[in-house]
Amino acid sequence: MSKINLTASFFVVFSLICAAFISVQAQNRNDKVLINEAERITGDSFIFSAQTPKGARVFALGKPSSKMLNAIDTGLSELFAVALRNNYFRRLNYSDYTIFIANPDRVKSSANQYSPDIAIGAAQYAGSVYDKGGYVYAAGMVLAFNPCAFIIAEHSKDFQRVSEVVRFEGEHLVLYHNDRKRYNKTADHSQGGGHPILQ
Ligand SMILES: [Zn+2]
Repeated sequence: MSKINLTASFFVVFSLICAAFISVQAQNRNDKVLINEAERITGDSFIFSAQTPKGARVFALGKPSSKMLNAIDTGLSELFAVALRNNYFRRLNYSDYTIFIANPDRVKSSANQYSPDIAIGAAQYAGSVYDKGGYVYAAGMVLAFNPCAFIIAEHSKDFQRVSEVVRFEGEHLVLYHNDRKRYNKTADHSQGGGHPILQ
């Protein structure tokens, strides 16, 4: 190998390393913003990160159970299937999604059903039937659009509900990226209308 070639390949390798390093840095910065926001809303500390078997990213308070992780994948699979039926093609990869598993603020609904939910600031729900005095209980909530991220509550049983919540929160994100008009019409449940949105 000539000297010039050697220098050139060294340079290529060096810039590849730099590029990889920069993208890891950017990734970490975005994650930090996302994690800070999730911690502000829930009051939890998301110190554990994991991946579902199909590649969705998960942040949690501790190691999530495989039942939680599989239920998230099932919910995303159902979401992607119904999205395709509606001719929505964007953001249909498991790796497009980041899910925060928070500590539930309640585990039973007012009807005494097992229902791990998170309490969130009432904001647009103030004065509505959802308002429980400045906050509302929600099964899940959208956290960010880029990357697609939402918060759900840790479950110890009824994992079908986890899949359902994942699919439902995911509906908002799929609509945001594929059909902004329909997203705007369905984003705010205080005006009525719930899930599923996509049939
Ligand atoms: Zn919703």
